[in-house]
Amino acid sequence: MSIISDKDRTYIAGTYARFPVEISHGKGSVLYDTDGKKYIDMGSGIGVTSFGIADDEWKNAVSAQLSAVQHTSNLYYTEPCTRLAELLCQRTGMKKVFFSNSGAEANECAIKVARKWAEENKGAEYSTIITLKNSFHGRTVTTLAATGQDHFHEHFMPLTPGFVYAEANNIDDVKRLVKENKVAAVMFECIQGEGGVLPMNPEFIKELASLAKSENFLLAVDEVQTGNGRTGELYAYMNYGITPDIVSTAKGLGGGLPLGATLLGEKVENTLKAGDHGSTFGGNPICCAGAVNIIERIDDDLLTSVKEKSKLIFDSLSSAKGIESVSGMGLMIGIKTKKAAKDIIVNCIDKGVLCLSAKDKVRLLPALNIPTEELKEALQIIKNVCAED
Ligand SMILES: *Cc1c(COP(=O)(O)O)cnc(C)c1O
Repeated sequence: MSIISDKDRTYIAGTYARFPVEISHGKGSVLYDTDGKKYIDMGSGIGVTSFGIADDEWKNAVSAQLSAVQHTSNLYYTEPCTRLAELLCQRTGMKKVFFSNSGAEANECAIKVARKWAEENKGAEYSTIITLKNSFHGRTVTTLAATGQDHFHEHFMPLTPGFVYAEANNIDDVKRLVKENKVAAVMFECIQGEGGVLPMNPEFIKELASLAKSENFLLAVDEVQTGNGRTGELYAYMNYGITPDIVSTAKGLGGGLPLGATLLGEKVENTLKAGDHGSTFGGNPICCAGAVNIIERIDDDLLTSVKEKSKLIFDSLSSAKGIESVSGMGLMIGIKTKKAAKDIIVNCIDKGVLCLSAKDKVRLLPALNIPTEELKEALQIIKNVCAED
């Protein structure tokens, strides 16, 4: 620990409370710091490196494109983003895709589509978007407004108007807001990630979907964290048997390169016209070439193994000493520990395991292909740390 962290504090805006670890390199689900210490990676860069660090297949796809052409702008056609959009549509039944560079941008697009659709189909006054309390949708001024947590709003008022917040898992509260407002869409996470790895009740999601039909508003699912195989299905909404109108995703889609996507269903496939929206970097050929490789590999076998590893985690941690409860789905796991999550995470770093936090939980988002042996080793270390007095 040295020059890098000192310089970082001097020159980088102080928005991140970094842990005292300087990552130098890695392979798969193993990372090394600049002192050569080894860590098992249970966070995958917040659910981003879907197939781990420096994965060979993904690297080959990315480097081949890097040597062909790295950027063209969206004035021209390129194969990787077209191929990726085709794959995403074929795998989901959605009709069209808009590419951006991050989760917040994917949600910005979802919000713009919802408002334009409502203007054209219900009237311009139908601009309100209902989101859920305790949700997280991003850091831009509009996606902050969508985020149903007051503390994120502090210091940055006024935010974009037109967002109201319903109690999660409370359909009556959604119905009340639909009555009181002119609503374009409801936007929600199937499992609240930053909010503490809290899955929505299947009943609530079903009722929300039928309310969307009867009241004629759009269903927009934020799959930025839950998407791309994370929950054991390609997208988390598939666990709930619903058909959303808009799906936004990012994080794991690019496997480590910045890429966001907003998937548009039948109702909204032609809502955006030339000039309505855009992005200089969106659909970058290198990011998309990597993402094609990622999505092609999230097949039934991989999804089955995600579910098996999920069961292994629940079985291993659920009644362990110092652990109060385990929540989540697939390889998106929240652990409520007796001791403060922050202390558990710091002690795990010391013992060579990198974990995340979410509210008062320890959060695990390992690579989808983490080897079972490494997973078991990490779980044993986490259990030991949780059991310490
Ligand atoms: C991370 C996250 C975002 C924001 O994504 P960025 O790429 O950081 O802009 C939005 N929604 C959810 C559910 C997320 O987990």
